[in-house]
Amino acid sequence: MKPPRFRYTAPERLDEALAVLAELGDEAKPLAGGQSLVPMLNMRLARPSVLVDLNRIPELDGIELVDGYLRIRAMTRHRAVERSSVVAQHQPLLSEAIRYVGHLPIRTRGTVGGSIAHADPAAELPGVLLALDGAVELLSQRGERVVPAAEFFVDLLTTVAAPDELVTAVRFPVLPPNSGTAWLEVARRHGDYALVGVGAVVTIASDGRTIEEARLSFIGVSVTPVRARAAEAALRGQPVAPDTWRAAAVAVREELDPTSDIHASAAYRRSIAGVLAERALALAAQRTQEGRER
Ligand SMILES: Cc1cc2nc3c(=O)[nH]c(=O)nc-3n(C[C@H](O)[C@H](O)[C@H](O)COP(=O)(O)OP(=O)(O)OC[C@H]3O[C@@H](n4cnc5c(N)ncnc54)[C@H](O)[C@@H]3O)c2cc1C
Repeated sequence: MKPPRFRYTAPERLDEALAVLAELGDEAKPLAGGQSLVPMLNMRLARPSVLVDLNRIPELDGIELVDGYLRIRAMTRHRAVERSSVVAQHQPLLSEAIRYVGHLPIRTRGTVGGSIAHADPAAELPGVLLALDGAVELLSQRGERVVPAAEFFVDLLTTVAAPDELVTAVRFPVLPPNSGTAWLEVARRHGDYALVGVGAVVTIASDGRTIEEARLSFIGVSVTPVRARAAEAALRGQPVAPDTWRAAAVAVREELDPTSDIHASAAYRRSIAGVLAERALALAAQRTQEGRER
């Protein structure tokens, strides 16, 4: 299908883009990589009267390490993140997860800000952001605000961002020492959206044997990415051992409440979430210990 008629503007400055959004509100839609928006236009699931192309605004591009977090500006392509040595060194969970986003041409066009703003519940980056307790920078003519990931995703394809606000950057906090991470997911084919995915973060106490903190962030199990907070709480203070990961899998299955759809049943998703949690926790803990031995 062809998209409905729309006007197109490609500002070269951020303030020009914000002025159009302030004037038109939800009549206008930002266009980033177009990998989700263009299919939605073609299927007439989105009908904006104006597209505001962000691709010519240089200040929306770049990766920088600032004040304990990695700040990735909104128009940074998935592929730039995938290839970044700064990301690999300081945010290995992001490096690992981003390889699962679609196929190479999609990652070459798709952007970090677009993925976060689109808020697909099976998309990797929202899940990574939630696992890392990250935050989203929003800017409008009314001012700037920084929203924690736990408050940003509110419903299916819905965030707290208002129609006149742009995602300008995404903050991925650097983890404390003795932390390891792992991203695992199940999809029908590599590049498909995940049926279930999990990001695990494990921080080991100074005794080298006890879990100080563990986090589990799931995609594909609800209308937004979700943390298994009860399972996380139960992991605190437990020994770093296979029995602990097995118990966490049970806790995850009790805590999550997935729904069925045409891709998978709720029971399958619940079962897989437990398996992935067990494996991801073990891998994250192993990586923590490998880091200590180096
Ligand atoms: C075949 C296929 C497979 C895919 N598989 C995956 C996958 O496995 N995992 C995955 O995560 N993604 C997948 N994607 C989606 C891809 O990652 C997209 O790039 C991403 O979801 C949206 O990024 P984008 O830059 O293309 O945004 P766009 O499509 O340009 O925009 C998406 C939405 O976000 C809004 N938006 C964009 N930028 C901003 C901004 N800065 N501020 C405010 N609003 C903004 C737009 O108005 C629009 O509503 C797939 C896409 C395709 C076509």
